[in-house]
Amino acid sequence: MGRGCGLKMKELKRIASFEVNHDVLEPGMYISRIDGDVVTYDIRFIKPNTPPFMSVEAAHTIEHLFATFVRNSHFGAEVVYFGPMGCMTGFYLLLRNTVSYEDAITLVRDALDFISLAEDHSYSLSYIPGCSKVECGNYLAHDLYGACKLANKMRRVLEHWTIDKLSYRPLILIQGAMMVEIVDLLAKRDDFKKVIINDFTFYVSNGLVISLTGIGMTNATIATTIAINHFHPTYIINQGTAGAHLAEMHVGDFVVAEKSVNININFGNDDAGIPLDNQFKFLDGDVDLVKKLSSGGENIKIFKGILGSGDLFSRNENQIKKLRDMYGEIAEEMECAAVYEVCKHFGVPCAGIRVISNNEITKEAYQPEVASSLQNYLYDLLFS
Ligand code: SAH
Repeated sequence: MGRGCGLKMKELKRIASFEVNHDVLEPGMYISRIDGDVVTYDIRFIKPNTPPFMSVEAAHTIEHLFATFVRNSHFGAEVVYFGPMGCMTGFYLLLRNTVSYEDAITLVRDALDFISLAEDHSYSLSYIPGCSKVECGNYLAHDLYGACKLANKMRRVLEHWTIDKLSYRPLILIQGAMMVEIVDLLAKRDDFKKVIINDFTFYVSNGLVISLTGIGMTNATIATTIAINHFHPTYIINQGTAGAHLAEMHVGDFVVAEKSVNININFGNDDAGIPLDNQFKFLDGDVDLVKKLSSGGENIKIFKGILGSGDLFSRNENQIKKLRDMYGEIAEEMECAAVYEVCKHFGVPCAGIRVISNNEITKEAYQPEVASSLQNYLYDLLFS
């Protein structure tokens, strides 16, 4: 057909390697994708967007030496391809899945060792295979010394690399509406960088962004939208305090939001003749995240169910009963449903978890300090 086979740019899907969050990618070896029996490894030499990048010459030399080594190795018949990325921050190595992940890591280490041996050959260009005009399309563009330096550096990165490090690291966004709900998370690391975007504050560290959303549905909506557009998190956890709407729930218990519902919608409209049954919707938390968040904590009571979110703080038992009759929520807070709605819109997995800080039914007074127990629980669950 020619001319791009008639495909227009906006019709094209983003390819998988662009879905990787390059902001949090560190040098290392990762599984980029698996297609049938072919595994594509991302061998990342340079942290993305942090110059200096690999020079064309050094990358070219690595390509010749690495490809020659792996194709001559014990796994030679299982090597599909090796070559540099256009961004000059690393290489792709494509192997058949008959090579185990352990062997793939060892093979890469051995290939890097082989490149380093150039030092013993006084960096003589004759060490580079395929380095003549008939064999190569740009045969003068080589840098053996540069290749050797890069290989040595990468060898150190992969020194203790194990198969559990082969998956790309997720970027987790954890939200809290008030400082008391994030302060214990911030105390876990000393390298958080404070970033303010459109008056919303984020604390950024490796693989983790903490967001101070502010209280209420509108703040949560804005903070979540900014976070998704700016940080591209792998998933989002909305957490903090909540009020119990069940008598058997007590201060300190946790609630995981299998579903969340906006309890502003239609509340108080009961005499207006507006049909109440289909005006609000129950939004789902991500099933895997809900399961994960419910999984820990030996001495913690964890309830799962519908979390009601709205711009209200119910102190009155009649109101709580009325809300429960209408929405079936087991606890009340002011952000989660907004976050679920935004995440659904952008296709970002999300789950809400809350610690009960008051119960008007059992007359347990509001104690926001319990927020720290949930933060400690989450950090242990996600990062240990
Ligand atoms: N610090 C404020 C109180 C804010 S409470 C003050 O001293 O006035 C509201 C925040 O806590 C919201 O972010 C909400 O998500 C959460 N929250 C805790 N218990 C709640 C309840 N019973 N009803 C509504 N929101 C509650």
